[in-house]
Amino acid sequence: MLEDAAVLCMGGKIVSVGKSKDALRDPWIKKNRKKIREIDCNGKVVLPGFVDSHTHPVFMQPRLVDFEKRISGATYEEIGEAGGGIRSSLDGVRKATKSALTKKLLAAFKEMAIQGTTTIEAKSGYGLTLDSELKSLGAIRDAAQQWPGTIVPTLLGAHVVPNEYKTCYPKYVEIVCKEMIPAAARRKLAQFVDVFTERGAFSEEDTRKIFEAANQNGLDVRAHVCQLSGTPLQELLRFKPASFDHMDHVREQDLPTLARHNTIATLVPGANYFLNATGYPPARELIDAGVPVALATDYNPGSSPTPSMPFVMSLACTHMKMSPEETISASTINGAWALRLQDRKGSVEPGKDADLAVFDVPDYREIAYWFAANHCQMTIMNGEILPEA
Ligand SMILES: [Zn+2]
Repeated sequence: MLEDAAVLCMGGKIVSVGKSKDALRDPWIKKNRKKIREIDCNGKVVLPGFVDSHTHPVFMQPRLVDFEKRISGATYEEIGEAGGGIRSSLDGVRKATKSALTKKLLAAFKEMAIQGTTTIEAKSGYGLTLDSELKSLGAIRDAAQQWPGTIVPTLLGAHVVPNEYKTCYPKYVEIVCKEMIPAAARRKLAQFVDVFTERGAFSEEDTRKIFEAANQNGLDVRAHVCQLSGTPLQELLRFKPASFDHMDHVREQDLPTLARHNTIATLVPGANYFLNATGYPPARELIDAGVPVALATDYNPGSSPTPSMPFVMSLACTHMKMSPEETISASTINGAWALRLQDRKGSVEPGKDADLAVFDVPDYREIAYWFAANHCQMTIMNGEILPEA
């Protein structure tokens, strides 16, 4: 932590970080001071912009029927079996035009940026046909081109098995491996391939097949694991996933192996909160075992409709016993590692992208302390200031 600090940015990059008094004595700054736009952050906290490394923003409608059903007692799995859940978002995305999806994406990115997020991983996964997955990724690309922040696209064709393949589900895995992944790679529409590895979704064997196809097509991998049950992780680590996400039911015997790998454990407690799960991800066990932990919103219409990294940090402090410092690392540099962007994102260092979030609080601990409040006053993305913030 630097007190009385100054950050000099130029051309979308951070070029210098130090004490304000040293910056003011710098001959180059003295000479060029009139040309520099100064932002007074006196009494405020400046952080690296948040890296939200797990979001599902390509959807059209909130899932209000599911919301009410759950309030009256149905479980997430029961709602899914009754035709709600992920499958109920498919219709909206399949029927939507790419430009309608792009518009929705830009609105979501803005909501996230207003709360300090500068880098967003965005997954497809509510189309689940070749065309609608490519359309979703195309919308992510179009939105990314119009957005000053950084967007990392992920193909999540293996989100659930759509109804039309329920009786011949190996055929769907084949479509993911032989059609979706090669097409997304060929058109450079995705950096990662993700799989929802869970009972009722895709098995470990399916996941291995999908990871293999991703690697063959030059794409990196990540997976949703251990959300509802303890997926064995050893075999999957062979594919060097950038991240394993959820991790609620991670098996104790997998912790030492995980600690030896570069795979980040990305925890998304917004989903536990919204689904009123019986517990929260075991952040302490992971951290104490030496596993690097990231936090993300899991922004999506079914299980975590929040754009707010500060709210997720609050959950991590109050329900997962992470310290405020740990939640900041988990939301910045560890999120960057989870997207393989650690050289460009996640910390305020010379040479990195000029991604900063300014908070109107005198103490960094207040960011996770207040909840359902937004103290982010300004967001700077690749050197560009979000005007509306
Ligand atoms: Zn997810």
